[in-house]
Amino acid sequence: MTNVAIDGPAGAGKSTIARAAAAQLGFIYVDTGALYRTIALNALRHNCIDSDEKIISLLADTEVKLGFKDGVQCVYLNGEDVSDYIRTPEISMGASKVSAIPEVRAFLLDLQRNIAENNNVIMDGRDIGTVVLPNADCKIFLTASPECRAQRRYKELIEKGEDVKYEDVLADVNKRDYQDSHREIAPLKPTDESIIADTSNLALEESVSMIIKIIRESI
Ligand code: C5P
Repeated sequence: MTNVAIDGPAGAGKSTIARAAAAQLGFIYVDTGALYRTIALNALRHNCIDSDEKIISLLADTEVKLGFKDGVQCVYLNGEDVSDYIRTPEISMGASKVSAIPEVRAFLLDLQRNIAENNNVIMDGRDIGTVVLPNADCKIFLTASPECRAQRRYKELIEKGEDVKYEDVLADVNKRDYQDSHREIAPLKPTDESIIADTSNLALEESVSMIIKIIRESI
């Protein structure tokens, strides 16, 4: 199986770019952020997002699964399709919080590896090249400036009808970057083999072409 790891900070366009590249290459696109978001949703529903201990004990009664409908990923929490509930700013921040808990990361590890063992995948996340798929055939670190990423995320949220301010989105981007890259376990960082791809000054189609070129040259 061919495994492509794409890591990078929030809002670099990873999901859109990786999804488009996967469709063109005939690979499955796996968005691992959805898994951490689902754990955060579960914690928020149980009013325990501030307690690592409670989040960990909830795992015993939690089943997270990924499904693919016409190539589109869905995530299930104890059998319920929660894909539509995990894209709010509150869940983004919660996901960043739960993802720093080692037990949560361990809980989600096999699920990610099993999918990659059985499919040609482009897997997007923060620690795919470093931890989840250290033997990936191609590792890309996709990034863009914080302002550029905040502007894109702001536009996305406004289009969805969310009531947000650009300054708040930028503050969230900076806070999540800090949390994700400074945590003790699986911090966000490129590996020695990662190819760094900066999308700040590229249109979406240009970014997709760049990624496909990198992948074709590596596999
Ligand atoms: O990619 P997305 O923004 O959906 O990820 C939500 C959060 O989940 C990130 O801020 C990060 O803290 C966490 N995450 C992670 N490892 C991954 C994917 C996401 O820690 N592989």
